[in-house]
Amino acid sequence: MAILETLYQELISFLGISNLLELFRTGNYSSLLTLNGILGVISPVIPLLLLIEVVRALVYKRFKIEDYKIPFLIFVLNRFISRFISIAAIAFCIGLFEKIAPFQVSFTWYWFIYGYVVWEFAHFVYHYLGHKVRIFWCLHSTHHAPTHMNLSVTYAHFFLEAPYADVIRTSICILAGVKPPMLFLIMFIDGTWGSFIHVGENIMKDGRMGFLSRIILTPSYHRVHHAKNPLYMDTNFCNLLNIWDKVFGTFQPEQKEIKIAYGITREMDPGNLWDVYLGELYCLWKDIRKAPGIGNKLLYIVMPPGWSHTGDHKTASVVKKASLAEAAAP
Ligand SMILES: [Zn+2]
Ligand SMILES: [Zn+2]
Repeated sequence: MAILETLYQELISFLGISNLLELFRTGNYSSLLTLNGILGVISPVIPLLLLIEVVRALVYKRFKIEDYKIPFLIFVLNRFISRFISIAAIAFCIGLFEKIAPFQVSFTWYWFIYGYVVWEFAHFVYHYLGHKVRIFWCLHSTHHAPTHMNLSVTYAHFFLEAPYADVIRTSICILAGVKPPMLFLIMFIDGTWGSFIHVGENIMKDGRMGFLSRIILTPSYHRVHHAKNPLYMDTNFCNLLNIWDKVFGTFQPEQKEIKIAYGITREMDPGNLWDVYLGELYCLWKDIRKAPGIGNKLLYIVMPPGWSHTGDHKTASVVKKASLAEAAAP
């Protein structure tokens, strides 16, 4: 029966309802006034929405196992590896950088806003590199492989991506004086919102969210980010506040006349776990092998995806420029 117990614990943990169950068990509702109590109530929101999304798709007979299979397999794979490396990486960065931070902020609302803006900047840095440096794209492309948008996409990540993202984000925040408790709260909000923006058209047809879209990174913006249409490629890197996309010129609203095509541009099988998980690494390896000279081989690792030693580049910016020129031609 140990296997049933393990499965039960996995389910409780996936649904994020352990705190909620504890609340019902003890009847101590005053904990809802504490931060932990509130977080305990928010945690199950995304898994619950995912369940609703799947049930709705089933009811309307739109459920296709392929839309959920790969993210689910990746979730299971990561569950056992990624989390532990990530926690160790965060602890290591805090230990390393907290001592040398020039100042430390206090836990007030205005410093919280400061902390959040710094976190969003750090997220932008990690995410931008994930798209513009080939080796990092190998880690990040797993998240972009799904060809349909739904909440399960939030779980589709290469197992080394979370530790790499957390090293960059934690280091920048700690160096900028954000204290660990505030950082953990920000991470929680960021994680919850970062999951929500993957809500599929099944639940939220129009993800624009009205006036909020002025400062908030809405599901609509993130759908654009997951698109392989030339105009949409490599845009909207932020997670909750869209300020840094506006600052760095990567902001792109959804255009009514351009229907989003989800996925990545290379030929691939989105239903094959190994192609989704390791396909980009394999392509990089093939490019490195055929590149002449050590210099070119190294450049393949650090240049943007699509860069070629022959000069015939197919990077996102080259593809976008060509497409815009074509559209502007009479
Ligand atoms: Zn991305
Ligand atoms: Zn995403």
